[in-house]
Amino acid sequence: MKILVPVKRVVDYNVKIRVKSDGTGVETSGVKMSMNPFDEIAVEEAVRLKEKGVATEIVAVSMGLANCAETIRTALAMGADRGILVETDVELQPLAVAKLLRAIAANEKPGMIIMGKQAIDDDMNATGQMLAALLGWGQGTFASKITIEGDKATVTREVDGGLETVALTLPAIVTTDLRLNEPRYASLPNIMKARKKPIETIKPADLGVDPAPRLTTLKVAEPPKRVAGTKVASVAELVEKLKFEAKVI
Ligand code: AMP
Repeated sequence: MKILVPVKRVVDYNVKIRVKSDGTGVETSGVKMSMNPFDEIAVEEAVRLKEKGVATEIVAVSMGLANCAETIRTALAMGADRGILVETDVELQPLAVAKLLRAIAANEKPGMIIMGKQAIDDDMNATGQMLAALLGWGQGTFASKITIEGDKATVTREVDGGLETVALTLPAIVTTDLRLNEPRYASLPNIMKARKKPIETIKPADLGVDPAPRLTTLKVAEPPKRVAGTKVASVAELVEKLKFEAKVI
Protein backbone atom coordinates (compact mmCIF):
# COMPACT_ATOMS: atom_id res chain seq x y z
CA MET A 1 0.00 0.00 0.00
CA LYS A 2 1.18 3.47 -0.88
CA ILE A 3 0.78 6.22 1.75
CA LEU A 4 0.63 9.90 0.84
CA VAL A 5 1.76 12.33 3.54
CA PRO A 6 1.19 16.07 3.01
CA VAL A 7 3.79 18.09 4.93
CA LYS A 8 3.45 21.84 5.43
CA ARG A 9 6.32 24.24 6.02
CA VAL A 10 5.37 26.50 8.93
CA VAL A 11 7.03 28.88 11.40
CA ASP A 12 8.88 26.65 13.91
CA TYR A 13 6.80 26.00 17.02
CA ASN A 14 9.55 27.44 19.26
CA VAL A 15 9.54 30.81 17.51
CA LYS A 16 7.68 33.70 19.11
CA ILE A 17 5.25 34.84 16.43
CA ARG A 18 5.46 38.50 15.35
CA VAL A 19 2.72 40.23 13.42
CA LYS A 20 3.87 42.30 10.42
CA SER A 21 3.76 46.03 11.15
CA ASP A 22 1.17 46.62 8.40
CA GLY A 23 -1.16 43.98 9.93
CA THR A 24 -1.31 41.89 6.74
CA GLY A 25 0.02 38.69 8.29
CA VAL A 26 2.69 37.01 10.37
CA GLU A 27 6.39 37.81 9.88
CA THR A 28 8.14 34.90 8.15
CA SER A 29 11.27 36.51 6.74
CA GLY A 30 14.38 35.63 8.72
CA VAL A 31 12.30 33.26 10.87
CA LYS A 32 13.13 29.57 11.48
CA MET A 33 10.72 27.39 9.52
CA SER A 34 10.06 23.69 10.15
CA MET A 35 7.69 20.90 9.28
CA ASN A 36 4.27 21.32 10.89
CA PRO A 37 4.52 19.18 14.09
CA PHE A 38 1.31 17.22 13.31
CA ASP A 39 2.79 16.36 9.90
CA GLU A 40 5.93 15.00 11.59
CA ILE A 41 3.60 12.69 13.49
CA ALA A 42 1.98 11.71 10.17
CA VAL A 43 5.36 10.91 8.58
CA GLU A 44 6.37 8.90 11.66
CA GLU A 45 3.16 6.87 11.52
CA ALA A 46 3.64 6.15 7.81
CA VAL A 47 7.25 5.07 8.43
CA ARG A 48 6.12 2.76 11.26
CA LEU A 49 3.51 1.22 8.94
CA LYS A 50 6.24 0.64 6.37
CA GLU A 51 8.51 -0.91 9.00
CA LYS A 52 5.64 -3.26 9.93
CA GLY A 53 5.31 -4.28 6.29
CA VAL A 54 1.85 -2.69 5.94
CA ALA A 55 2.99 0.15 3.68
CA THR A 56 5.26 -0.29 0.68
CA GLU A 57 5.92 3.32 -0.34
CA ILE A 58 5.63 6.72 1.33
CA VAL A 59 5.24 9.85 -0.79
CA ALA A 60 5.65 13.23 0.96
CA VAL A 61 3.91 16.21 -0.65
CA SER A 62 4.47 19.86 0.16
CA MET A 63 2.91 22.89 -1.46
CA GLY A 64 4.08 26.48 -1.54
CA LEU A 65 7.35 28.28 -2.27
CA ALA A 66 10.40 26.44 -3.63
CA ASN A 67 11.90 26.12 -0.14
CA CYS A 68 9.11 23.70 0.82
CA ALA A 69 11.54 21.20 -0.74
CA GLU A 70 13.48 21.42 2.56
CA THR A 71 10.39 20.19 4.39
CA ILE A 72 10.10 17.31 1.94
CA ARG A 73 13.81 16.51 2.56
CA THR A 74 13.07 16.28 6.29
CA ALA A 75 10.30 13.77 5.55
CA LEU A 76 12.67 11.83 3.27
CA ALA A 77 15.29 11.77 6.03
CA MET A 78 12.69 10.37 8.44
CA GLY A 79 11.95 7.53 6.01
CA ALA A 80 9.66 8.71 3.20
CA ASP A 81 10.68 7.34 -0.21
CA ARG A 82 10.08 10.24 -2.58
CA GLY A 83 8.61 13.71 -2.69
CA ILE A 84 6.30 15.89 -4.74
CA LEU A 85 6.64 19.66 -4.52
CA VAL A 86 3.71 21.69 -5.82
CA GLU A 87 5.44 24.99 -6.33
CA THR A 88 3.47 28.23 -6.23
CA ASP A 89 3.75 31.68 -4.72
CA VAL A 90 -0.03 31.95 -4.42
CA GLU A 91 -1.27 31.92 -0.80
CA LEU A 92 -2.72 28.43 -0.40
CA GLN A 93 -5.91 28.04 1.58
CA PRO A 94 -7.32 24.66 2.72
CA LEU A 95 -9.74 24.25 -0.21
CA ALA A 96 -6.93 24.82 -2.73
CA VAL A 97 -4.62 22.40 -0.88
CA ALA A 98 -7.43 19.82 -0.75
CA LYS A 99 -8.09 20.17 -4.50
CA LEU A 100 -4.38 19.82 -5.30
CA LEU A 101 -4.17 16.74 -3.06
CA ARG A 102 -7.26 15.27 -4.72
CA ALA A 103 -5.51 15.59 -8.11
CA ILE A 104 -2.31 14.02 -6.73
CA ALA A 105 -4.35 11.20 -5.16
CA ALA A 106 -5.96 10.55 -8.56
CA ASN A 107 -2.49 10.12 -10.11
CA GLU A 108 -0.81 8.26 -7.25
CA LYS A 109 -3.74 6.12 -6.04
CA PRO A 110 -2.58 5.83 -2.40
CA GLY A 111 -4.28 3.41 -0.01
CA MET A 112 -4.17 6.05 2.68
CA ILE A 113 -3.45 9.73 3.16
CA ILE A 114 -2.10 10.53 6.63
CA MET A 115 -1.91 14.25 7.40
CA GLY A 116 -1.85 16.67 10.31
CA LYS A 117 -5.11 17.52 12.05
CA GLN A 118 -4.12 21.17 11.68
CA ALA A 119 -1.31 23.42 10.59
CA ILE A 120 0.02 25.40 13.56
CA ASP A 121 0.37 28.61 11.54
CA ASP A 122 -3.27 29.20 10.62
CA ASP A 123 -4.96 26.53 12.80
CA MET A 124 -7.48 25.88 10.03
CA ASN A 125 -8.14 22.22 10.86
CA ALA A 126 -9.97 21.89 7.55
CA THR A 127 -7.81 20.39 4.80
CA GLY A 128 -8.18 16.70 5.76
CA GLN A 129 -11.94 16.99 6.11
CA MET A 130 -12.29 18.86 2.80
CA LEU A 131 -10.09 16.32 1.03
CA ALA A 132 -12.14 13.39 2.37
CA ALA A 133 -15.30 15.11 1.09
CA LEU A 134 -13.79 15.86 -2.34
CA LEU A 135 -12.55 12.28 -2.76
CA GLY A 136 -15.64 10.70 -1.21
CA TRP A 137 -13.37 8.69 1.13
CA GLY A 138 -13.90 7.87 4.79
CA GLN A 139 -12.02 9.91 7.39
CA GLY A 140 -10.62 9.25 10.84
CA THR A 141 -9.68 12.65 12.23
CA PHE A 142 -7.69 13.41 15.44
CA ALA A 143 -6.21 9.90 15.45
CA SER A 144 -4.38 8.59 18.51
CA LYS A 145 -4.16 4.99 17.23
CA ILE A 146 -4.28 3.40 13.78
CA THR A 147 -4.55 -0.33 13.09
CA ILE A 148 -4.72 -1.73 9.58
CA GLU A 149 -5.95 -5.16 8.54
CA GLY A 150 -6.41 -5.86 4.85
CA ASP A 151 -8.49 -3.07 3.35
CA LYS A 152 -9.83 -1.92 6.74
CA ALA A 153 -8.39 0.65 9.13
CA THR A 154 -9.45 1.04 12.73
CA VAL A 155 -8.80 4.55 14.03
CA THR A 156 -9.11 5.69 17.62
CA ARG A 157 -10.07 9.36 17.71
CA GLU A 158 -9.52 11.91 20.45
CA VAL A 159 -12.93 13.53 20.94
CA ASP A 160 -14.18 15.90 23.64
CA GLY A 161 -15.72 13.23 25.86
CA GLY A 162 -12.88 10.69 25.52
CA LEU A 163 -12.00 8.26 22.75
CA GLU A 164 -14.07 7.15 19.78
CA THR A 165 -13.10 4.22 17.56
CA VAL A 166 -14.14 4.21 13.92
CA ALA A 167 -13.74 1.53 11.24
CA LEU A 168 -12.80 2.77 7.77
CA THR A 169 -12.58 1.06 4.42
CA LEU A 170 -9.41 1.99 2.55
CA PRO A 171 -8.58 4.20 0.77
CA ALA A 172 -9.19 6.68 3.59
CA ILE A 173 -7.92 9.89 5.17
CA VAL A 174 -6.45 9.94 8.67
CA THR A 175 -5.50 13.14 10.48
CA THR A 176 -3.06 12.92 13.36
CA ASP A 177 -3.38 14.06 16.96
CA LEU A 178 -0.52 14.59 19.41
CA ARG A 179 -0.70 11.24 21.20
CA LEU A 180 -0.46 9.08 18.04
CA ASN A 181 3.33 8.71 18.35
CA GLU A 182 6.56 10.50 19.11
CA PRO A 183 8.34 11.35 15.84
CA ARG A 184 11.93 10.17 15.45
CA TYR A 185 14.89 12.43 14.81
CA ALA A 186 16.49 11.79 11.44
CA SER A 187 19.94 10.21 11.85
CA LEU A 188 22.91 11.72 10.01
CA PRO A 189 23.23 8.73 7.61
CA ASN A 190 19.52 9.01 6.81
CA ILE A 191 19.86 12.78 6.18
CA MET A 192 22.67 11.96 3.73
CA LYS A 193 20.62 9.20 2.07
CA ALA A 194 17.64 11.57 1.75
CA ARG A 195 19.70 13.83 -0.51
CA LYS A 196 19.58 11.16 -3.19
CA LYS A 197 15.84 10.50 -2.95
CA PRO A 198 13.81 12.03 -5.80
CA ILE A 199 11.60 15.12 -5.51
CA GLU A 200 9.33 15.89 -8.46
CA THR A 201 8.43 19.57 -8.87
CA ILE A 202 5.12 20.50 -10.49
CA LYS A 203 2.83 23.54 -10.65
CA PRO A 204 -0.86 23.75 -9.71
CA ALA A 205 -1.71 24.13 -13.42
CA ASP A 206 -0.09 20.72 -14.10
CA LEU A 207 -2.77 19.30 -11.82
CA GLY A 208 -5.51 21.35 -13.47
CA VAL A 209 -6.20 23.30 -10.28
CA ASP A 210 -6.66 27.05 -9.85
CA PRO A 211 -5.30 27.70 -6.33
CA ALA A 212 -6.54 31.31 -6.08
CA PRO A 213 -7.62 32.19 -2.51
CA ARG A 214 -11.35 32.34 -1.72
CA LEU A 215 -11.00 34.07 1.64
CA THR A 216 -9.56 37.53 2.19
CA THR A 217 -7.62 38.28 5.35
CA LEU A 218 -8.83 41.65 6.58
CA LYS A 219 -6.38 42.14 9.42
CA VAL A 220 -3.96 40.19 11.60
CA ALA A 221 -3.42 41.56 15.12
CA GLU A 222 -1.58 40.48 18.24
CA PRO A 223 -3.78 39.43 21.18
CA PRO A 224 -4.14 42.18 23.82
CA LYS A 225 -1.25 42.23 26.34
CA ARG A 226 -2.14 40.42 29.54
CA VAL A 227 -1.86 42.61 32.65
CA ALA A 228 0.00 41.21 35.64
CA GLY A 229 -2.09 39.50 38.35
CA THR A 230 -2.25 40.64 41.98
CA LYS A 231 -2.31 38.69 45.23
CA VAL A 232 -5.21 39.22 47.59
CA ALA A 233 -4.96 38.83 51.36
CA SER A 234 -8.36 37.25 51.99
CA VAL A 235 -11.46 35.77 50.39
CA ALA A 236 -13.35 38.90 51.40
CA GLU A 237 -10.91 41.07 49.47
CA LEU A 238 -11.19 38.75 46.44
CA VAL A 239 -15.00 38.99 46.48
CA GLU A 240 -14.78 42.78 46.88
CA LYS A 241 -12.46 43.05 43.85
CA LEU A 242 -14.56 40.72 41.72
CA LYS A 243 -17.66 42.77 42.59
CA PHE A 244 -16.43 46.33 42.34
CA GLU A 245 -13.24 46.25 40.20
CA ALA A 246 -13.77 43.40 37.72
CA LYS A 247 -17.58 43.70 38.06
CA VAL A 248 -17.99 40.03 37.19
CA ILE A 249 -20.18 38.95 40.15
P1 AMP B 1 -5.01 22.99 7.97
O1 AMP B 1 -6.34 22.49 7.49
O2 AMP B 1 -4.53 24.20 7.19
O3 AMP B 1 -4.99 23.25 9.46
O4 AMP B 1 -3.92 21.86 7.65
C1 AMP B 1 -4.14 20.50 7.95
C2 AMP B 1 -3.11 19.63 7.27
O5 AMP B 1 -3.19 19.79 5.84
C3 AMP B 1 -1.65 19.94 7.59
O6 AMP B 1 -1.26 19.34 8.82
C4 AMP B 1 -0.94 19.31 6.39
O7 AMP B 1 -0.85 17.91 6.53
C5 AMP B 1 -1.92 19.61 5.25
N1 AMP B 1 -1.53 20.87 4.57
C6 AMP B 1 -2.09 22.10 4.70
N2 AMP B 1 -1.45 23.00 3.92
C7 AMP B 1 -0.45 22.33 3.29
C8 AMP B 1 0.59 22.70 2.36
N3 AMP B 1 0.73 23.94 1.93
N4 AMP B 1 1.44 21.72 1.94
C9 AMP B 1 1.31 20.44 2.37
N5 AMP B 1 0.37 20.05 3.25
C10 AMP B 1 -0.51 20.96 3.70
